[in-house]
Amino acid sequence: MVLKIAGEMRATCPEFNENRANLEKYILISLAEKENFDNYWEYLHDPESFFRNYIENRIKIYADERSEKMKTLFKISFDDIKNAILLAIHQSTAIAKDKSSTVSEWLDLFCDHLGSNLIFPREDLISIEHQEIKDYEFLKEAMSEALDPAMKTVEQKYLSMPVEGMVPEIQKMLSEHLCGCWKQCPFCGAICTNTIPNHDGDHSVPFHRPIGTNGWRFYKTEELVIDYCTSLVASDRSFILSDLSTFPYKNYRQAGGEYATWSITPDSSTQPYWKWFVCHFRSNLEEKYQKKFIGRGEIPHSWAKITKQDVLDDLKKQ
Ligand SMILES: [Zn+2]
Ligand SMILES: [Zn+2]
Repeated sequence: MVLKIAGEMRATCPEFNENRANLEKYILISLAEKENFDNYWEYLHDPESFFRNYIENRIKIYADERSEKMKTLFKISFDDIKNAILLAIHQSTAIAKDKSSTVSEWLDLFCDHLGSNLIFPREDLISIEHQEIKDYEFLKEAMSEALDPAMKTVEQKYLSMPVEGMVPEIQKMLSEHLCGCWKQCPFCGAICTNTIPNHDGDHSVPFHRPIGTNGWRFYKTEELVIDYCTSLVASDRSFILSDLSTFPYKNYRQAGGEYATWSITPDSSTQPYWKWFVCHFRSNLEEKYQKKFIGRGEIPHSWAKITKQDVLDDLKKQ
């Protein structure tokens, strides 16, 4: 069942039917739609847990919708089964009555009439097989009456099957499928899009962010950095690490560690998404980092013109 639902979700939910980069696109859309800074903060600083929670919530919504659908389906098929049994009882009794049959013969007729619809556990009734039937009407009534509570029990059992209990397992399955590399760009924090954890070669991501979103500031000032790492690595500027060692952005790999494992290609084209984000959540970012987008970190005027609709349209066409 868990496997089936996970499979269904991958087939029917567009955010789950490709890789994690595709899921991330849907996550960015959902974050922009909800406009909740705390959610963004978790996404920026603990993406792995954010993705896990996102998948879990999505499963809960799916399970709710599905269980409504399943209830209707179960109801329809239960009614069909019940009618098939009642009809088989009726038909086999009519024939058995004419032939004065034994229980065994009646059961043969009954099973024949059920046909391929249902498999009846005949072996269970072996002890009464050779009894003679004295009252056919009584048999018919007794069988029909016994049917109702038996069907009710089965129905209740199915309808109350808790899909909620399966959520953690489904979440685990989907998360495993959608994992990949979780390394974040040492400048902007964008997540590597490689689909293999511990992959060979450099980490990389097609879209970087303004590095101030990750808390980078100008040395010994309050000014957050508004530039994207992709333009910084093409500039003549330098960065300073906490141990005060300085490296030109152009040769960022010289800084070693995480810096040496990333491939950041110079590129001036940028998504509107993070420009909108910085404008929209400017004060939240400034408060969290206790720094400001002022001076050399001033937000370009053109960014403020980007609307939420622009960024959603841009993501949806990707
Ligand atoms: Zn970056
Ligand atoms: Zn990677």
